[in-house]
Amino acid sequence: MSLTLNELIRKLKAKEFKKITIAAGAGISVAAGLSDYRSKDTGLYDQLKKFNLSNPEQVYDINVFRKNPSLYYSVSKEFGTHNLDLQPTFAHQFIYHLDRNDQLLNCFTQNIDGLELVAGVRESKVIQVHGHRRTASCIDCKKTYCVKTFYQNVDKSEIMKCTDCNGLIKPDVVFFGQSLPQLYFEKLPEISLSDLVIIMGTSLQVQPFSNMIYRINENVPIVLINKETNLRRLDPINNKLLIKGDVQDIISSIMKQL
Ligand SMILES: [Zn+2]
Repeated sequence: MSLTLNELIRKLKAKEFKKITIAAGAGISVAAGLSDYRSKDTGLYDQLKKFNLSNPEQVYDINVFRKNPSLYYSVSKEFGTHNLDLQPTFAHQFIYHLDRNDQLLNCFTQNIDGLELVAGVRESKVIQVHGHRRTASCIDCKKTYCVKTFYQNVDKSEIMKCTDCNGLIKPDVVFFGQSLPQLYFEKLPEISLSDLVIIMGTSLQVQPFSNMIYRINENVPIVLINKETNLRRLDPINNKLLIKGDVQDIISSIMKQL
């Protein structure tokens, strides 16, 4: 038997779920004004075509950055992805609601915007698997720098270098070729403790999310809220609730009933 939407809402309201794992992707921040990565035409990767890259992921590749940091600088400047003043969406407020009611086990997020924290979710519950932009650091000696200074350099198209070792500075976002944050590895086993898993705004294509679902215990319901719900990875899962549509609209509707 799969969970239904009415049951989900009833059980959330009755606080029957006490260890909810959230897996959140770019789709939960679209309503805040951030571009997601993979949507056709409007996604960042499609918009990057004007940079004539053979593979748009090169922008976030540590080896490419070492050789040609100006590519990341240009893209950051062009798309305003350094906008640090975004506001949380309904999805972020929903995660905060769960935390405030002691129903949140962990929130794994692919997003680097930190809006989960802005919404009020406790820092110990938020695992930003691809890092964040609260600080910047030297890619060689790891010395920490103010991220605002980094983005001032982006605006001036001046490459920022470490005052100690002359290494390149970048925000503490995980690039391809860099290891994931330690907190991710510490919290990953806790997924097996979940009594409900809610996946929002991601199509589970990017590691480590694509494999995280295999750690969920059998019979634990998985809810997917996304504009695309036909995900082959979820085929083997029996107890699942797929809610297809705009994440902001769907969460707004659920929140009104809690
Ligand atoms: Zn350095």
